[in-house]
Formats: sequence, C-alpha cells, structure tokens
Amino acid sequence: MWIDTHCHLDAPEFAADREAVIASAQRAGVSAFVIPAVTLDTCQDVLTLCQQQPACVPALGLHPIYADSHHQLSDIDRLDELLARHRPRAVGEIGLDFFVEGLSEEKQTALFVAQLKLARKHDLPVLLHVRRSQDKILKYLRQFPVRGGFAHAFNGSRQQAQQFLDMGFKLGFGGAMTYPRALRIRELATTLPLDALVIETDAPDIPPEWQPHQRHAPDQLPRIASLLAELRGGIPLGELATQLRRNSEAVLGPLPAGI
Ligand SMILES: [Zn+2]
Repeated sequence: MWIDTHCHLDAPEFAADREAVIASAQRAGVSAFVIPAVTLDTCQDVLTLCQQQPACVPALGLHPIYADSHHQLSDIDRLDELLARHRPRAVGEIGLDFFVEGLSEEKQTALFVAQLKLARKHDLPVLLHVRRSQDKILKYLRQFPVRGGFAHAFNGSRQQAQQFLDMGFKLGFGGAMTYPRALRIRELATTLPLDALVIETDAPDIPPEWQPHQRHAPDQLPRIASLLAELRGGIPLGELATQLRRNSEAVLGPLPAGI
C-alpha cells in the first residue's frame, strides 16, 4: 500500500469528483494521502477534507507562490492558532520560489522564516516547496532547525540532497521522475539510499510522462512506484512499499494503512 506524501486533493480541480478520485486511488493501492494547504483559506478546506476522509492527513501552511497575492504577514498569527487547535501532521506547504517571476523575495522570506519558527514552536516537521532556492532554504534551515520534513518534488544536486538528508529530511520524487530526460532527478532516485526517499504525485500538478497535460491524480502513484522499483534494479514492490512507508512515518508519525 502506497502513501502519496504530497497531493492537493482539496484543489478546485477535484471539486466535481473528489470522492471518486480518492476511491480510485485506494483501489489502485494508495492507502494514505498527505494534503498540504497553500493559503489560510485552504487550511479550512484541508481540515474539512481530512475530517471527512480518514485516509487523508493534513498539513497547514502558506505557499510561497501566493506570498504577494494572498498572504498577509498577520496570517502567521492565524496559522499559529490553527496549528495549536488542530495539531496537523506538518507545517506546509512552505518554502521559497525563485522560478516564478515577480514574486517578492523579501515577503516570501519573511513568511518562510516565520513558518519555520512556528514549526519549531509546535514541534512539527515541514513540507517544503523548493524551486531555484535550494541553497537559501538550506541556509534558513541551518539558522532555524526543524524536526525534519519532506523536500517535495526534489530537483537539486546530490550535494544539496545530502544537506537535506543531514537535517532529517526525506526527498520527494514523483511526476518529474517519469520523464527519461530528467537525468539528474532519475540519477538521484536511483542511487540515493532507499531510506532517503518518499513518493508523491503533487496532484493535480506535475502529470507523469504517460499522461502529459492532464490533471494528475493519486491513482497514478502505484505506476510511479513501479517505475522507481525498475530504476532501482527491480527491487520487489513489497519491499519498496514497506521502506517508503517507514520513511514517510519517520517524519509524519503513523499513517492510515488502508482498507
Ligand atoms: Zn504542492
């Protein structure tokens, strides 16, 4: 049974068929879904979804790409209250994005650092969005160490990977790994120690090579897992599932084991 360590099932793309999407993924062998919020408003959506769906577990946070359009610095106080009241599994999705043009680095950084401090205060791991920002994120993590987390959709270098691992992080691999031209990502997924990895879809984003330009959904996760097993020399799927669950639970605590 697989764990989707990063999927936005609360997103409007799933408004019409959310329950069917979850049921289809469960039939395909996905037993748990980690749902990170991206704004204060979606925190409520994520909490509601996770109350209705026992296979879903929440993370609450403010995503960097909405730094200018949605977040106020005062949202940090509201997030602090939500973390205290609801005790989600992680603070996320948080991070820095220097790929999307026109975002204020100053505001992203203020929100990111404030959320690292909240993760420390509430003793929670973090789910990181790291885009063209590996070294800055590593710098802030050294300054404000947290109890680990996932670096989602990892696309850094081997040296950066090692620094995340040294700080108690696991690295998330998913849709991008399915593209044969993603040489560096594939190389890392193939050669990093197996206890360094978790898998994810990032649904509805980052569709796999076999469904380009489509809405990504977590029922594709078993195929992503099979590909990872293949890349790693044909490791048995049962063994891979057991180790990936261990890795995910080492960060988040016990996760739903399925039906
Ligand atoms: Zn995400």
